[in-house]
Amino acid sequence: MRVPFVDLKAQYSTHKSELDAAILKVVSETAFVSGKYAAEFELEFAKYIGAENCIACANGTDALEIALKAIGIGPGDEVIVPANTFFATSEAVDNVGATPVFVDCEPNFYNIDTEKIEEKITARTKALVPVHLYGLPADMDAVMSIANKHGLKVIEDCAQSHGADYKGKRTGTFGDIATFSFYPGKNLGAYGDAGAIVTKDAELAQRCRLIANHGQPAKYKHTIVGRNSRMDGIQAAVLSVKLKYLDEWLEARRGHAARYDSNLQSLGIALPRAPEYSRHTYHLYVVRVKDRDAVAAKLNEAGIDTGLHYPVALPYLDVYSGRGFHPSDFPVAHSQMNELLSLPMYAELTDEMVDYVCENLKKAVSQVASA
Ligand SMILES: *Cc1c(COP(=O)(O)O)cnc(C)c1O
Repeated sequence: MRVPFVDLKAQYSTHKSELDAAILKVVSETAFVSGKYAAEFELEFAKYIGAENCIACANGTDALEIALKAIGIGPGDEVIVPANTFFATSEAVDNVGATPVFVDCEPNFYNIDTEKIEEKITARTKALVPVHLYGLPADMDAVMSIANKHGLKVIEDCAQSHGADYKGKRTGTFGDIATFSFYPGKNLGAYGDAGAIVTKDAELAQRCRLIANHGQPAKYKHTIVGRNSRMDGIQAAVLSVKLKYLDEWLEARRGHAARYDSNLQSLGIALPRAPEYSRHTYHLYVVRVKDRDAVAAKLNEAGIDTGLHYPVALPYLDVYSGRGFHPSDFPVAHSQMNELLSLPMYAELTDEMVDYVCENLKKAVSQVASA
């Protein structure tokens, strides 16, 4: 059996006629950039998240950069980010001229360790960027109370958490502003790059909109130096179709996660966990195994693709080598980066596929242990 890590074709096949029609409509109306389809999607997505304002943009990395800029983060400022996340989170901070300050992750849930945030706050700290990693909300009560105590802004990086709930509320509604990615492989994915920003603050929303569209409140009237980061009409139309199915897909992911959980319980490896007040959306189903690379190679031989999220924690990337971080600076992120293994996860997985992965993972773990 072949089990790919993700299978975007399976989802397309299921909804082909609706998606094809939506794309053709945009082309026939030549509504290519921004415009009516992006505006429609903004309203639908804001409603889905429970946010007052949504600004569609070109991708999730731009969304972070635009949000940071709109908040006024720039040179000389420090922004706290988790040590384990995709590079875009800290890259956006660097790109606005500020310095990312890393905080280790919590060992059980993999999100930023809120107990270790305050020791990193200095007079230059301006904002916190919690990431709802793998689709599990960060501990937002703790994040918000630290932010309020120290007068810091909060930008939620929701690139992996579309539809995830924390204490009954959607991620993206806790901080000052939140950013989403619709990269094709995300839980809600476009057919190319796309992103969005949501916020309850109308003024902040207006600033984001201005930055994302050349600083022009009206055609050829430029009031600030902005940039070009708009959503394509085709992406917006695809996203409007797919948004209708998002909850169904998240339920399917939760079903597969539950099947992985019960199948793998006896194996004695660390499985994904969620606090009882959170609803995980399993953008990724990440386990921890010893001799991870050998286990992944065995799975690969059996036709099963896996992923690494992430093979190198941010402080240890080449780009930050000049900052001289040591393994003991982020002990949890450093020790876990060699053990994290992401198993295939997407709505269209079948029970047979999940069982096949589990069976082969058990085999691989025992073979590698006795080698
Ligand atoms: C995917 C991702 C991004 C970047 O999104 P793009 O749309 O690919 O630019 C940012 N942060 C996290 C945590 C991500 O997973």
